Amino acid sequence: MSSSPIPALIPNIVLMGHVNAGKSTLLNALIGQEVAITSPIAGTTTDTVHKRMEIIGVGAVNLLDTAGLGDTTSLGVQRLQKTLQSINQAHLLLYVLDASCWYLHRPLKQSALPADATRRIMVFTHIDQLTVDQRVALQQNFPDALLMDYQDPQSIDALLRRIAHRLQREEKLLLDGIALPHRHIVHVIPIDSEAPKGRLIMPQMQLLREALDRHLRSTVVQVEELQTLLDHDPTIDLIITDSQAFAQVSAINQQRYPLTSYSILQANQKGDLAFFLQGVQALATLPPQSNILMMESCTHNVNHEDIGRVKIPKLLQKQFPHITFHFDFVMGAHMPDNLQQYDAIIHCGSCMLPAKTMHHRMDQARRQQVPMLNYGLFLAYAMGILEEATAVYRSAPLI
Ligand code: SF4
Repeated sequence: MSSSPIPALIPNIVLMGHVNAGKSTLLNALIGQEVAITSPIAGTTTDTVHKRMEIIGVGAVNLLDTAGLGDTTSLGVQRLQKTLQSINQAHLLLYVLDASCWYLHRPLKQSALPADATRRIMVFTHIDQLTVDQRVALQQNFPDALLMDYQDPQSIDALLRRIAHRLQREEKLLLDGIALPHRHIVHVIPIDSEAPKGRLIMPQMQLLREALDRHLRSTVVQVEELQTLLDHDPTIDLIITDSQAFAQVSAINQQRYPLTSYSILQANQKGDLAFFLQGVQALATLPPQSNILMMESCTHNVNHEDIGRVKIPKLLQKQFPHITFHFDFVMGAHMPDNLQQYDAIIHCGSCMLPAKTMHHRMDQARRQQVPMLNYGLFLAYAMGILEEATAVYRSAPLI
């Protein structure tokens, strides 16, 4: 059990369901240890329990056992908020249902289930309380559901295989939609005062791993080495830079090779690039008093060069000196319900968020007609290189 932040490269599998549906027993069975307290008393899991495990074919995953739904006490209502936050961060939901309750007392309507069927697996527990005929009827009613029989070791194996299958096809990749005829990409990774000590940041690691998976050649340089590389290697398909070095890299590149940023790759991978580009265009029509919502998907400390708190607000003000800006900053899993109070939303690259959550956020913005864009697109726009930084997608029917 841990209350530390959960790295997003590791998928979150959230166990959800009504109180006493058997979520904690399922968690214990999955990891083969007694980490979650189980009891027949409703509401035994009062806070989200985190546990890490390795699944063959996937690697490490975070299992999150949430407090049960349907607890109507005042504490239960607060716990529900935490459960909903966990669901919001889920790459995959295990929707746990008590088969005996469903079959005998509480017919379950399909419409009550979480909508996106590719992101949930229904698991019926307490199967031993059903007759054979009832089991058959249950499986006929819910052909995609797994009936969990703890006496049968193959039950857990079947669930682990189903989880692996769902997670393997879970998200678009960073380089999807980009032609790479020479199979050679250049990663520009500045090691500056904001770079974490002794490691790379999430999108840099993700891209390196994806390049290896795709058997691409990767050349990794800092800005200082880029000129020499570009002068001597004609096989480069794409340069990917940290957004903050965009202007320098663009000046060195002189439009010789396609150039983009980690954040723009993420806009395509997790978001909707065309929608974000409309968000960039909408900046030109901001009112004289503009409220801007700055959103970051994880919590971190802030320094004097912070991109979201300092650099982007300054650049926005410089770009539109006649406008008086007011900024609200939101970090983590929360998104304000009322977005109409804002004239634009500028979101981080969202490396810590599942694509599903980003899509939910974009849907909220669309519904309330609030323009939305991300940091990388804004920085490219502010530096006057938006066209160059998105050209790599122009041959594809994205924008
Ligand atoms: S603020 Fe956003 S882009 Fe930056 S590390 Fe957190 S989730 Fe990733």
